[in-house]
Amino acid sequence: MPELPEVETIRAQLAPRLEGRTLARVEIFDPRLTRPHDLFEVAEELEGDRVVAVERHGKYLLLRLESGFGLLVHLRMTGGFHWQPVSHERALLELDDGTRVVYRDVRRFGTWLVLEGAELEPYLAAKNGPEPLGPRFTARWLSEQLARRRAPLKAVLLDQRVVAGLGNIYADEALWRARVNPLRPANEISTDDAGRLARAIRAALRTGIERQGSTLSDYRTPEGASGSMQDEFRVYGRDGEPCPRCRTTITKTRVGGRGTWFCPRCQPLQ
Ligand SMILES: [Zn+2]
Repeated sequence: MPELPEVETIRAQLAPRLEGRTLARVEIFDPRLTRPHDLFEVAEELEGDRVVAVERHGKYLLLRLESGFGLLVHLRMTGGFHWQPVSHERALLELDDGTRVVYRDVRRFGTWLVLEGAELEPYLAAKNGPEPLGPRFTARWLSEQLARRRAPLKAVLLDQRVVAGLGNIYADEALWRARVNPLRPANEISTDDAGRLARAIRAALRTGIERQGSTLSDYRTPEGASGSMQDEFRVYGRDGEPCPRCRTTITKTRVGGRGTWFCPRCQPLQ
């Protein structure tokens, strides 16, 4: 599932090709993408408008349009954009310079939502907390959020209102870097641990962006390349392998139904 580094990689490749361009033709092939709104109405709203910016907010992509409207895209499990024709095409944006931007989604959980300018910021503010790579995400803020919750730490970290854009992979990697156990109750995390965790989250996400994300099955960049972050995983998906820091065998457990990997020695429960 695309997380912040994957969505940011896609944004960075879309922006130079889309910004300043008019959406000359918009075709949506799958009613699930826009429901409960009619796919023809959504396509009509977009057609003829000009893209002024391609932004990322947490795991959302936002195409800001000259009219003030915005197209908010959530890729969910397997959504992605491509310059070349691909299988499982769900929508097509044809630009005024002839560029064809294909939206692909194998499992069809992705969503396209058109919002008016005045609706955009409140909608995003309700879904997303601070951007972890931005100035509002501080050790103090994270510490305050954790102190209010008794759920397992990792479950709290996956709440997009706590850390926008963080998902299963980068949460495990950040917890390992910070040497904190994912199962510990969030409100028992010390201020020091929360500070280390905030830094570890930023470091894990930055590494992910540098590697253009991680490709486990479907994710490709718009250029068609795979990410390479999966080669750098320290714990994620590595149960039975030695911890890169202490050589103890990495353990797999579940937190909130999600597969979770950690080192029992570096990340003790107590
Ligand atoms: Zn270890």
